[in-house]
Amino acid sequence: MRTITSKSTACLILAVLAIFSMSKETPGQPQRQPAATQNRPATPEISYTVSMSKPWTHLLEVQMRVRWNEMPRALELKMPVWTPGSYLVREYARHVQDFDAKNAAGADLQWEKINKNTWQVNTAGAKEIVASYRVYSNELTVRTNELNDEHAFWNNTALLLFPKGQLAAPSTITVNPYSNWKVATGLPPVSGRANTFRAENFDILYDAPFEVSNFKEISFQSHGKPHRIVVDGEGNYDLNRLATDFAKIVDEGYKIFGELPYENYLFIVNLRGRGGLEHLNSTALQVDRFGFKPQSRYESFLGLVAHEHFHLWNVKRIRPDALGPFDYENENYTRLLWVAEGTTSYYDSLIMRRAGFVTDKEFLEAKASAIKQLQERPGRFETSLEEASLDAWIKYYRQDENSINNQISYYDKGEIVSFLLDAEIRSASGGARSLDDVMRHLYNEFYKKNRNYTSQDFQRAAETAAGRSLDEFFANYVRGRAEIDYDAILSGVGLRLEAAEPNKGKAYLGADLTEEGGRVTVRSLPAGTPAYEHGLNAADQIIAIDGHRASIARLDSYIGEKKPGDKIRLTVFRFDRLHDVNVTLGPDPRKSYSFRTVSNPTDLQKRLYRDYMNNEL
Ligand SMILES: [Zn+2]
Repeated sequence: MRTITSKSTACLILAVLAIFSMSKETPGQPQRQPAATQNRPATPEISYTVSMSKPWTHLLEVQMRVRWNEMPRALELKMPVWTPGSYLVREYARHVQDFDAKNAAGADLQWEKINKNTWQVNTAGAKEIVASYRVYSNELTVRTNELNDEHAFWNNTALLLFPKGQLAAPSTITVNPYSNWKVATGLPPVSGRANTFRAENFDILYDAPFEVSNFKEISFQSHGKPHRIVVDGEGNYDLNRLATDFAKIVDEGYKIFGELPYENYLFIVNLRGRGGLEHLNSTALQVDRFGFKPQSRYESFLGLVAHEHFHLWNVKRIRPDALGPFDYENENYTRLLWVAEGTTSYYDSLIMRRAGFVTDKEFLEAKASAIKQLQERPGRFETSLEEASLDAWIKYYRQDENSINNQISYYDKGEIVSFLLDAEIRSASGGARSLDDVMRHLYNEFYKKNRNYTSQDFQRAAETAAGRSLDEFFANYVRGRAEIDYDAILSGVGLRLEAAEPNKGKAYLGADLTEEGGRVTVRSLPAGTPAYEHGLNAADQIIAIDGHRASIARLDSYIGEKKPGDKIRLTVFRFDRLHDVNVTLGPDPRKSYSFRTVSNPTDLQKRLYRDYMNNEL
């Protein structure tokens, strides 16, 4: 995800352009089907109808029809608790209401809720049942549902129940749009049936989000494959420019892998919030409606597009051990989210550079800034990349004031370590190979051979590309929590990380503060800072410094006139009681980083720099 904030003026886009030609082919699908048990009863026929007769109530209406020769007496219908790509149990069942079950003749069937996400229907011998329910949908994120008088957007994981044990069953979904709204999804249409789509199994069904509205749209072709962009609402975007720029991003992905492994691809853009979620042949993107200008904000959005599109390879097809087929009722644990997300973040930045959207200088500045963030996190000594991946379910999506001290982000450190791994492979192989070769290897040897990869597989693939053992690299920086020796690795490609101490000798408090309505509040306290060591607490409201009313500006200027070793008295409200906290200020340890080239480069360094940066050293 990337941050895109709002500014600038609107530019009304009226054109509704080329209509997308839907392919009848199945979109890319997971290689492995959910495990079949022996003597499995004949597969049920499942069809859903999704209606939205009163969009202002935010209730999506679902009818689920199950026809099954082997219909059990007690049919358990289950709602997923999470959606792949967003590793948190979100309890979608909490939005389900008005559940009802009937047989094909319309007679009521008894049912009861037996746990948080399961409705058990007494089928009473019926071979066909119709369950109906409504789902409250009033939260627009890429992993939730929203229905209002402007549009509907939903994820099937947060809307459609599945029969227990039947994730391999195919299904169809028919949408009854409100008014004259149009329907967009990555699922293939059923020919001859309006707004009806099919899915081979639940991993396919649950992978495809829907946008239903009067969206604007444009299509483009890339390497013979149709790509469709739908944008819901008005904003300062230029639809033609989106198509031109998205096509450049798609092309860079194609160049890495040599093919686009889908029949068609859909970009859904909603103009609120921020973030994106990857799917097999589509992505849901959110950006502020005025987030397309100025250029720097637009580039940030394009970086998001590059990130989500690259995911169609890395995580949707090149799949970590536990990520597919999915268990929709429990956490799916993997130590590889640093590759799924961090390596994808590295690639979105590479693709942006290769496509010419950012310069080499901007690329390296962004890497230096990411390194600064990591180096200022005490949590880098507490949590390794593998540990952060495994604990995503309880930590990454549940950040608190102590996260800086006990966590790292597998996105941010994963991006840095992928950058370093690329440099390591390039120098170890004398420029013969790069991280691109690792990604291609995983794609060809795992995805195409129906296999998910493990941590060991990833390391082996990197070592094969490097032509030597990388065990120390992985032990220190992936499985371990060692301080990173950037120059030892990056000098191989002719780069040197220069650290400056712009505030050397100045006094330092070290609290992370926010100010709202004149109130200064402590947001977090990095371990080891004077503020942390002398007893300031997160959520303290700082009222005064040495008896003078506090604002962030005053704290900065007041402390700026002090020297390390000087004492200050902070008066704070803590749980509505006044406290004095005496702090001895320390020296400001913060560094700023920038990339330079090595002095006196060897011929090899010159060549590897040229290969990597596309520039002479
Ligand atoms: Zn991602």
